[in-house]
Amino acid sequence: MLRAVKFMLLAAVLLALAWWVGGLPGSVTAHAGPYVVTTSTPAALLLLLLIALLLTVLLRVLGGIRRAPGQFGAWRAAKRAAAGEAATLRGLAALAAQDARAAKAEAAKALKLAGETPLALLLSAEAARLAGDATQAKSAFAKLTQHKELKFLGHRGLLRASLEAGEHDAARQHAEAAETAYPGAAWTRAQRLDLALRTGDYAAALGLTQDKHEIAALATAAARQATTPAQALAFAKRAVKADPLFAPAVAALANALRALGKERAAKKALRAGWEAAPHPLLAEAWTPADATPLERAREAPELAAANPGHVESELLLAQADLAAKLPGEAARHAQAALEAGGDDGRAQAILDQLAGKPAQPSRFAWLCDSCHHAQPDWAPVCPVCHKIGSLRWRAPGTALV
Ligand SMILES: [Zn+2]
Repeated sequence: MLRAVKFMLLAAVLLALAWWVGGLPGSVTAHAGPYVVTTSTPAALLLLLLIALLLTVLLRVLGGIRRAPGQFGAWRAAKRAAAGEAATLRGLAALAAQDARAAKAEAAKALKLAGETPLALLLSAEAARLAGDATQAKSAFAKLTQHKELKFLGHRGLLRASLEAGEHDAARQHAEAAETAYPGAAWTRAQRLDLALRTGDYAAALGLTQDKHEIAALATAAARQATTPAQALAFAKRAVKADPLFAPAVAALANALRALGKERAAKKALRAGWEAAPHPLLAEAWTPADATPLERAREAPELAAANPGHVESELLLAQADLAAKLPGEAARHAQAALEAGGDDGRAQAILDQLAGKPAQPSRFAWLCDSCHHAQPDWAPVCPVCHKIGSLRWRAPGTALV
């Protein structure tokens, strides 16, 4: 309704305008050199209108001709980008199918058609990695690190490549960059932990786990490799706090306290450890390394008294007496150990040695919970299955000590 009214109003105005122009009096004369043209005013106005209309159409046509090459280029670029995207998608499918050759070919096509777009670069890097072309993979991942959104993927690729090549310093740098690019990623944390363990940097590894068992093992190892006694003490305290029954941690704490001149505190820690869970490592740490066998035999009863009658207490006394050449006492304590249930071969070995018989070696060892690997010395990580804190002191086939 409103449109009809508008149309009628416009028609009326135009009609009135035409009527007014048609009724204009007078004439218009144009001079051009020797030529003179005279016409009525309405005809001159109509001519002017026609010229303006023609000029407008001409300008439009000229503008279109001028823009044509650009528009053609844009159309071609869009076509290439679409073809590049299709190649990228085919490459991703080839990558998932583990078809390295096809993935690499599609990646090359995608790069040629679409240029170095982040997705084409990622495809190119992963395809090169799958094909075993480390140099090309590295170059493509390095380019990805320049991209704001895919920076993490770039550093992730470079970290994996550095780890595979055994370049630990470069791996550490990429691990830190990956952490910055994508904070808190579980993958990065696992890689950083693996890297710290590979390089034996237990202090760094310690900051990457929440598990109490792992903390006790890693803090003990960090205390053992600390460069100052104060540092060693801090790590050892952390280890004992995480697992107060863990003998290597208690021994490390005692050693650190002794290194700082705190002999009484060291002995107190060892007595508490012995009371809770006696272990040969605590017996070893009880007297300084340079003590004579006689000094050891003299000091052993004080530690044994923290857990009287225990198999380990009797064994501690028997071994100290044997080393100090006190055969009567050694035999008595070895017998007591046997009677207290020490049938793992250690008490019998002392009795055999006293009787001049060849002694059987102890069956006790540090055994891995996970893969059952056995070794005589404790280590924070199983050398076979690489599990942290998995080594336990026991004889094969016996319960945990
Ligand atoms: Zn293992």
